[in-house]
Amino acid sequence: MVVYKFGGAAVGSPERIRNTVKIISGYKGKLVVVVSAMAKTTDALEELNLAYAERNIDEALNILSCIRDFHCETADKLGLSASIFDDMFQNTVSFIKENKIRDFDCCYGQIVSLGELLASLLLNECLNSCGTLSRLVDARKLVMTDSSFREAKIYFDQTEKNIRDAFSFSDVSCYVTQGFIGSNSDGATTVLGREGSDYSAAIIASAMSSENLTIWKDVPGVLSADPKLFSDAELLPELSYKDAAELSYYGAQVIHPKTVKPLVAKNIPLFVKSFLDTSLEGTKISANSKIRQNTPVIASKKNQILISILPKDFSFVLDDAIMQTISILHSFNVKIHIIQSSPLCISLCADDGRNTRLAVDELKINGIVLYNNNLELITIRNYTEKLIEKYSENKERLIMQRDRSTVRMLLK
Ligand code: ASP
Ligand code: MG
Repeated sequence: MVVYKFGGAAVGSPERIRNTVKIISGYKGKLVVVVSAMAKTTDALEELNLAYAERNIDEALNILSCIRDFHCETADKLGLSASIFDDMFQNTVSFIKENKIRDFDCCYGQIVSLGELLASLLLNECLNSCGTLSRLVDARKLVMTDSSFREAKIYFDQTEKNIRDAFSFSDVSCYVTQGFIGSNSDGATTVLGREGSDYSAAIIASAMSSENLTIWKDVPGVLSADPKLFSDAELLPELSYKDAAELSYYGAQVIHPKTVKPLVAKNIPLFVKSFLDTSLEGTKISANSKIRQNTPVIASKKNQILISILPKDFSFVLDDAIMQTISILHSFNVKIHIIQSSPLCISLCADDGRNTRLAVDELKINGIVLYNNNLELITIRNYTEKLIEKYSENKERLIMQRDRSTVRMLLK
């Protein structure tokens, strides 16, 4: 059996959904399809959750009704009845009006997961109406997690067993399920972090000892840079697991950084292919593949914040002050991308956002905290001096770290 993962762009319009159905129907073996929310839906649901958290109920319901219109119109254009979504929208409306839980992260899980539920239902209905028999499986019954609602940790033993039981292929050869979502021991919905559907697909592929996993994207494969940002992007036909993991961590828009790990142990190849032109080879990520020597690879992370902490009492001379700083950031789920320390100052670069700002407030208890936001972190693999100049031209380099193969620059 194999696993296919389709992201938001692959199910973003009626035409795209038809195309996805064609790709799925074209595969004649046993298949598990993992799908994420339709394009932009997760962003809209995040806004909805924010409005809800601020008790702006009218605004929350307005956003929900836009999401509803978009999905119903899509269903309609695909010749399906828009009423398929009635229960899901009714549940969300009831949640918005009646829920008593105030925990932001918990509500996030309940609300933001709607995108995947809608898209998977739509794709499954569409497959069946086009003559490809498939069964919809609720990923919340499979993926068991802890209660870190927005970036849940998976309980692997139980999850893998659930996956193997659910995908028995006893009477269908195609299943559709959601990426990104799971549930905790109370049955409340949790999510695996933004763009986490790739990770879901990898967990399923690993549990099933799948022959391979294909992630279908709107680009020809893994590119050496984001073509929207850098004109010299080229296709990387092969990558090792290690390179893929590193590049995704650095911010290459390839796959979710956690995707590789579940595949490595079972040596499951990962293909990244274009759903726009299925004849292209794409990129193969596996144990033996190698990045072509010397091809520079550029990754960019926008919206970075540089936090500098100057302790009031010179305590950074002691390592435990550094440990404490990192553990505060960790407790807010903030991922640190760069650390630089000197005897009297520690500087960290991380994604900016709500949690980071909360962590900054907490850090202020220990010292003076300065920050600089709206920064870009550029990583160049196989760099040259010329490339460093080119990508930091007219910008201030706030931090620059380099080793033999990789340079990382925090730019303002
Ligand atoms: N729909 C979720 C997101 O946009 C998960 C995913 O796309 O993988 O973050
Ligand atoms: Mg996505």
